[in-house]
Amino acid sequence: MILGLLKEQSNENRVALLPEIVQSLSDLKVEVWVEQDAGANALATDADYENAGAKVVSRKEVFEKSDVLLQIQSPVAEDIKKIAKNQVWISAFNPLWDTELVKTFLEKGITTFSLDSIPRTTRAQAMDILSSMATVAGYKAVLEAAIKLPTFFPMFMTAAGTIRPANVLILGAGVAGLQGIATARKLGAQVQVFDVRSAVKEEVMSLGGKFVEVEGATEDKEAGGYAVEQTEEYKKKQQQAVNDHAAKANVIICTAQIPGKKAPVLISKETVETMKPGSVIIDLAASTGGNCELTENDKTIEHKGVTIVGESNYPSQMPVDASRMFGKNVLNFLKLIIGEEGALNLNFEDDIVKGTCITNKGEIYNERVKSVIE
Ligand code: NAD
Repeated sequence: MILGLLKEQSNENRVALLPEIVQSLSDLKVEVWVEQDAGANALATDADYENAGAKVVSRKEVFEKSDVLLQIQSPVAEDIKKIAKNQVWISAFNPLWDTELVKTFLEKGITTFSLDSIPRTTRAQAMDILSSMATVAGYKAVLEAAIKLPTFFPMFMTAAGTIRPANVLILGAGVAGLQGIATARKLGAQVQVFDVRSAVKEEVMSLGGKFVEVEGATEDKEAGGYAVEQTEEYKKKQQQAVNDHAAKANVIICTAQIPGKKAPVLISKETVETMKPGSVIIDLAASTGGNCELTENDKTIEHKGVTIVGESNYPSQMPVDASRMFGKNVLNFLKLIIGEEGALNLNFEDDIVKGTCITNKGEIYNERVKSVIE
């Protein structure tokens, strides 16, 4: 089969596969056709792809000849028209959130896989783009905060006096939050952490963070390890606790999300106003509304001396390693759906294949997406 690698259309520097993955696909008897300049922003040239065994062609040819179309971001409206029924579309299109796109794929009868829907199981770990991209985001978020902060992260005892370490507050200890804790600790900050899942307490502590407990959180064992929406009573208690810690924080990294739902608002405008001027909030939940009431997606704003960065795509700012990780995840996933002689072999008995498949032949395959749409 032919795998067509598309150049990203939106403001995206990553590419879904680097040249280093091409040989492994050739070994599986898959031909890789790459759109001209697809890897340019991730520092992979057309010559690099050709040297690795891929064929570099126009965008038109990729759409016309590929059996499987691959990119990172959702397709733009114009591209949806070009996808044929016998082609398979693979990207990360957040189907729990962008239900309109799912409905369009359904109507057009296109077979689609969304890599952000890979089940969070041990067997699927090597394909889990959410984890690898959250690792990049958590790391970058802390670095950006350190650059924007007018004070140091580490403690210094110098002849010019003693500098106190920065206080970093992390909201949400999923993959991005845990990476944020590790990075902030390596830079010498003191780190406090909130999460509604008590299971993460030990991980937080093992990374050197202090877990702040708010009693009465709702946890659901059926939610696949994810957080669920909280009661009004808990939300009030948590806001108060966040408020108390925010006033002492120099940096807040927001990562709290609930799949398919608007992100919980944990920092109100009033809380921001209690923060010290010069403090920095980095909101990784910006694309689903943000954990801070004042966050604006893809914008950096200032409110009463506090800088609020609403950034939803840090991986695009570290395109080389982010593409490297993404591509490795993609390769591991492709191995599941490529059969003998490089032909596509979709085994929907496999929980990873079924869970990642969003639409096929006019039906929704992923159960969670189905429950949101139907
Ligand atoms: P996520 O991006 O969905 O959410 C980030 C964090 O925010 C989570 O820890 C969540 O509990 C927290 N959160 C949500 N609402 C909150 C609130 N109101 N207040 C405070 N915190 C709140 O999470 P993620 O990084 O995608 O991880 C989700 C789950 O998946 C975790 O249990 C993680 O361990 C698990 N996971 C499993 C695998 C695997 O086995 N393959 C891989 C990665 C992650």
